[in-house]
Amino acid sequence: KEVLVIGGGAREHAITLKLLHSPIISKIYVAPGNPGMYLAEPKRVILLGIDVSNVNNIIEWCKTKRPDMVVVGPEDPLNKGVAEKLAVIGVTCFGPSSRAARIECDKSYAKDFMVRHNIPTAQYRSFTSSKEAKHYVMNETNFQSGYVVKASGLAAGKGTLIAKTKQEACEHIETCLDRKVFGDAGTTTVVEEFLEGEECSVLAFTDGVNVSLMPAAQDHKRAYDNDFGPNTGGMGAICPFDLVESDSQLREQIKREIIDRAIKGMHDDGHAFVGVLFAGVMLTPLPSSFSASNKGGRPQYRISTLEYNCRFGDPETQSILPLLETDLFQILLACVSGRLNTIEIKWKLDVFTCGIVIADAGYPETSITKGQLIEGLERANTADEYSLAAPAAASNDDDDHRIAFVIHAGTKFKDDQRRDIVTNGGRILTVVGVGHSLESAVEKALRHVRTIRIAKSRFRSDLGRRQIARAQI
Ligand code: ATP
Repeated sequence: KEVLVIGGGAREHAITLKLLHSPIISKIYVAPGNPGMYLAEPKRVILLGIDVSNVNNIIEWCKTKRPDMVVVGPEDPLNKGVAEKLAVIGVTCFGPSSRAARIECDKSYAKDFMVRHNIPTAQYRSFTSSKEAKHYVMNETNFQSGYVVKASGLAAGKGTLIAKTKQEACEHIETCLDRKVFGDAGTTTVVEEFLEGEECSVLAFTDGVNVSLMPAAQDHKRAYDNDFGPNTGGMGAICPFDLVESDSQLREQIKREIIDRAIKGMHDDGHAFVGVLFAGVMLTPLPSSFSASNKGGRPQYRISTLEYNCRFGDPETQSILPLLETDLFQILLACVSGRLNTIEIKWKLDVFTCGIVIADAGYPETSITKGQLIEGLERANTADEYSLAAPAAASNDDDDHRIAFVIHAGTKFKDDQRRDIVTNGGRILTVVGVGHSLESAVEKALRHVRTIRIAKSRFRSDLGRRQIARAQI
């Protein structure tokens, strides 16, 4: 079988490594791909130089090459209708239609959808007039913990501002609605209550009716250690996330109220969602769970949906997929053919992963420096290793630091010789450590990160800190 993977980030590299493990896949085309994907198996991975920002280029390529499946990494092509355009030419696509992708691509619509389908989410209102939005903030609400102001459309993660004061919230409203900094993406703006708690990412495979949850993960959105600095696309993720994975009731509640209701809602609304549905979930501790009457009991959480994404997450995917034991391609096939209920999906839950993003020093605030030489990337990862199927992974020896994978994102070959690799973006690499405890996974990832040299770069060194502290209690 031949597959086309759209995208060139770390998420798509991780997906490609997993697909390479499938014995029935002979060739993977990646557009545009990255050097890491190619180096994983140069004979089976082919980098395509097509411009995927224009969906018609993808369609034209597929008309002649007719791949057995197209797997879409980022949301942009889905928003532009690549799934339905591929359906017209009879090519199978893993990823939802643009109608279903609206759940990510239009936040105002997504919030209304959640309310309509009784899905827990923060209080909000949507506006097209800055005067009305500011009036809402100043006179109609008093959110004690703060406000979140979001450009409704896709703004590459930059359209959302967490505002501690009403004044700050009003300034971002003006940025979106008056100064139109985000263009069309900001012509509708959502103002919502800031929720406190711990955030996690819950991803699920779905065929439009049936749902299968992946192990929960936790991203680290802020740029700097201890959650300081601006929001980024994500500075790294840990998996499994303990609060959800060690509490079957909480996991079941998230599945029922946040994932199942969304899948049923889209199905009932006439645009079933096929692909990976990603929910950003806030867990807010309930005061009652700390009361004397709950002595010895588990902390209780209120769950709220922060956002849905219509595809695999980045950086979550890099940390989740090593735990997958079932053939990824078989799962994708089951989703697109409406028979997800016929396969059993197995996960390796006795190991932990920690993926640390190495970013350009200027990311995300100032300009980034492309073309920096990356040193210390001795070898590429093979698909077998990433599937934890290599002998080293079977070992119980937590000191075995061969168990760390380098996943590429903003990288490119320096020249046609395809030897030296240079930086080519804000988020450059994700290094994933694997261990029999989270602490060991973090330690391995950090050790490996420190062997990679990029002059102007940085990374967070505090990933998983809260979960590690909980494990020590
Ligand atoms: P991305 O695609 O990078 O996740 P985005 O532009 O789609 O970002 P949101 O997902 O809506 O924007 O918000 C980005 C981040 O802001 C969330 O992951 C979360 O950390 C924080 N956030 C959003 N809404 C809230 C809220 N109501 N309370 C607290 N934090 C929030």
